Amino acid sequence: MKYVSTRGSAPALDFAEVTLAGLASDGGLYVPEEWPQFTAEEIRAMRGLPYAELAARVMQPFVGDSLAPDRLRELTEEAYGRFAHKAVTPLVQLDERQWLLELFHGPTLAFKDVALQLLGLLFEEFLAREDSRLTIVGATSGDTGSAAIDAVAGRDNVEIFMLHPKGRVSDVQRRQMTTVRAPNVHNIAIEGSFDDAQAMVKRIFADESVTARHRIGAVNSINWARLMAQVVYYFAASLQLGGPDRELAFSVPTGNFGDVFAGHVAARMGLPIARLIVATNVNDILHRALGNGDYSAGTVTPTTAPSMDIQVSSNFERLLFDVGGRDGAALADQMRGFEASRAMMLSNAQRDGAAGLFTSMRVDEDETARSIREAYENWGEVIDPHTAIGLHAARHADLAAQVPVVTLATAHAAKFSDAVERATGLRPSLPSRVGDLFAREEAYTELPGTYEAVRDFILETAD
Ligand SMILES: *Cc1c(COP(=O)(O)O)cnc(C)c1O
Repeated sequence: MKYVSTRGSAPALDFAEVTLAGLASDGGLYVPEEWPQFTAEEIRAMRGLPYAELAARVMQPFVGDSLAPDRLRELTEEAYGRFAHKAVTPLVQLDERQWLLELFHGPTLAFKDVALQLLGLLFEEFLAREDSRLTIVGATSGDTGSAAIDAVAGRDNVEIFMLHPKGRVSDVQRRQMTTVRAPNVHNIAIEGSFDDAQAMVKRIFADESVTARHRIGAVNSINWARLMAQVVYYFAASLQLGGPDRELAFSVPTGNFGDVFAGHVAARMGLPIARLIVATNVNDILHRALGNGDYSAGTVTPTTAPSMDIQVSSNFERLLFDVGGRDGAALADQMRGFEASRAMMLSNAQRDGAAGLFTSMRVDEDETARSIREAYENWGEVIDPHTAIGLHAARHADLAAQVPVVTLATAHAAKFSDAVERATGLRPSLPSRVGDLFAREEAYTELPGTYEAVRDFILETAD
């Protein structure tokens, strides 16, 4: 399997290379040259497989020759063996129509673990082969940081610099990053928003003063391997609810468009998906783009769902490429325009292509709180604000009757206990697997929100 850039001019890479590469050298994102397809018969044959085995089957076409099937299977066993639930991503039924897909049973309590536990192992595997080192630079709105740090802390040949927007992540999120004391982990709090941090990370990839000295890797969902690992749970949910012989809809609380893009990939591979609901908070650039083609970034409004407080959704570029005719040169022009003015209109092909599968909904703070409260009152389920946004959209979207709707439950409620307590009166407690988070000492570096400060810190600190 070869991977090509959405902007058309970076070299094609194989899976091992794309895993270590992060952003393409032309500023684009890597996507598979073509989508592997499963027949209905092949999907039916996946029913009842343990999660780790299902994962290896779904991912093998993307991995190609980079890993032997047995080795891939060993890595998925190891990655998913760390989850606190045997099913890894269990489904919970709310009523005859609504389901929750719980993605938070990993070590850091959000869905990011599903991909990052595997990615940490893939880094180690591919770096050992080449006997080289990787400097990971990432930005987090909260959950990627902790999941990535957990996945690489103490591992050989990798070092991680993780930027978070100062004061804009929850206490649990911050402590899950800053209390990990390993020599290869560097936490940085910057002045500004997640979008500012993400823009700095993208500049690092293009900055020769850094790339000449360090091989820079990505743990954000610009890294293809992350999305690949997330495709698996769409298959897992569908297989349990009658797939491939029954269509489902998925409601996905969305920020950087990674998780929901994985649903698009599952559909492209042959999984019958009736609808993908893109659920946003008031930072609604994706809702506007899908509704009327207006992709223009405003300023970020902090909400109770901080992992979705994003205005510029990196992975949307992958969708625009895929539904807009896969024309890298045209997309490069369009994205350059967006980067200059922070606004662009989608082409008709892009809008029509997206409309075939995607619906969107914007969910405000009152609706989020009500959704948390109703989940508790109606079904006894304590859900986090991100999941609540997905569930609100699932219950209010205009879908054909009879289509079951699976909401992706992206975080454990205890990660956002203040908002959950305000809505329900109940303070969810942290599961014991996170240990004495509030007793451990924190360590992080505070930097001003300028690119130079971050770059210089990385150059001074990296091995
Ligand atoms: C990251 C995150 C999201 C958004 O996922 P994207 O892939 O960026 O769209 C939603 N909920 C939680 C809890 C998250 O951590």
